[in-house]
Amino acid sequence: MDYKKLANLLYPNAKDIEFYEKKYPERNLDNGAEVCRFAPSPTGRIHMGNLFASFIPEVFAHQSNGVFILRIEDTDQVRILDNGVELIYNDLKTYNYQIDESPLDGGEYGPYVQTQRKEIYESYAKYLVSIGRAYPCFCSAEDLDEMRHHQEERKEQIGYYGRYAKCRNLSLEDVEKHLKNGDKFVLRLKSMGDPDKKFIFKDLVKGTIELPQNNLDGVLIKSDGIPPYAFAHVVDDHLMHTTIVTRDDSYISSVPYHMELWDAFGFKKPKFAHLLPINKKDGDIIRKISKRKDPEAAISYHHEKGIPVEAVKLYFATLLNSNFEGWLLQNPDKSYRDFKFTFDKMSKSGSLFDMEKLISISKNYLSKLKASEVFDLLDAWSKEFDIDFNKLINKYKEYTINVLNIEREQKKPRKDFAFYSEIKPQIWYMFDELFEDAEYNFEVNQIDEIKNVINLYSEKYYNESDDKETWFNKIKELSEELGYASDMKAYKENPDSYKGSVADISNIIRVALTTKTTTPDLYEIMHLLGKDRIQKRFKKVINM
Ligand code: GLU
Repeated sequence: MDYKKLANLLYPNAKDIEFYEKKYPERNLDNGAEVCRFAPSPTGRIHMGNLFASFIPEVFAHQSNGVFILRIEDTDQVRILDNGVELIYNDLKTYNYQIDESPLDGGEYGPYVQTQRKEIYESYAKYLVSIGRAYPCFCSAEDLDEMRHHQEERKEQIGYYGRYAKCRNLSLEDVEKHLKNGDKFVLRLKSMGDPDKKFIFKDLVKGTIELPQNNLDGVLIKSDGIPPYAFAHVVDDHLMHTTIVTRDDSYISSVPYHMELWDAFGFKKPKFAHLLPINKKDGDIIRKISKRKDPEAAISYHHEKGIPVEAVKLYFATLLNSNFEGWLLQNPDKSYRDFKFTFDKMSKSGSLFDMEKLISISKNYLSKLKASEVFDLLDAWSKEFDIDFNKLINKYKEYTINVLNIEREQKKPRKDFAFYSEIKPQIWYMFDELFEDAEYNFEVNQIDEIKNVINLYSEKYYNESDDKETWFNKIKELSEELGYASDMKAYKENPDSYKGSVADISNIIRVALTTKTTTPDLYEIMHLLGKDRIQKRFKKVINM
């Protein structure tokens, strides 16, 4: 068989692959720089599982000074969304992923959308035909159905292979006749594999894997000229000079087929890392995290709650490498970008999505930021999700920053919120606009005593310019004057000799000013509220 002739017959207009080999030369990168990619289908917004799956190649690319590519795999035309590319791109950008090449950023190795690479695929298809490793198959759907039934009846391997691969033996004249007839064809790999022999493969995550060799003559190009995943991935990763393919674990069983294709071309193969999905514990079972069943899987859930993007990435880092968390404890002020991730420290059994863990990482992360940084994050979040609050914090920007600074920037900073949506419930009472409608929960039979305490405190003891010690001493004096113990020890020894203790008095003042029984440091709160607000709130209680 003259394969060159066959190739010209099938693809008369396709360019020689030399053209593309020259157009997409070896990248000029540092030694050890990795070229990684995230290659989703544009079927809608990604979820936390995908976000984690794209975090991995982004991190391995950039920690090695390499390149991270977003490639869109849209050859499966059925599931495509019109704005699918933008949705994915924006989600990755929101998490500050650094995308070096993509449909939206462009790049020297594009196009980055597979349906725009049809001409390229045609050239490489032609090349495979010309070296005798691919052939056209004109079998109809009925032929294939019949073959499958036959195989099922005899309990034989299902598929197009060996003696079932009828079109392997078509002569040049047969092919010419079909083409003249206008018959449609798919292009198939001419497999040389033997499933009775072993195929051994080294995966970066899973280690050495043994599978049967491939013997299927899989479809490389469909009758519309579009390649299914396998062929497109080999050509793209070859031309984009990918060095690590990270992809879903479900591709493992196809690896012998993919590798046969790489070998048929004679291309240098990238390394492969097959990734386990993020799982979730659902009662007693462990299952893949699902957009449908798990609200926390949706990225929109994280945005609405205001879960900091950096906290999510710190959490991903703990999922990615088991030794990351220990490192972070030793290096609390460093970014995950300073850590050297490796594949051998990845879990071989998959990881569980643990919201509690994310919350604790997030609290920790927010507690370490400067108040002005928290303000900026809260500002961006509330602009989208709580516009009234956004206006308020911007009206009193300096004041809000000071409020956010209460018990911050100290050795053990407060950790009272994990999400931006939890900040308002913690600080609302610092704003008159929100305090106006607040209700007190004082017990009715205590109201007179409470009024008494507040009245005396406000007239005799409260002084805006007192330092903390004087302020507290005055609360003690007030306690004594009203028959409350100023000394906790004395009170505990003899509780019946007092109406209560200084703690009760402080609490009455705290509730009068905030309505809450627990708050951060009351002195700091009063210092920020200032005299006018404080007297106004005291009056509100006295007039109750
Ligand atoms: N489009 C494939 C997927 O979404 C990509 C697999 C790969 O990264 O090679 O599963």
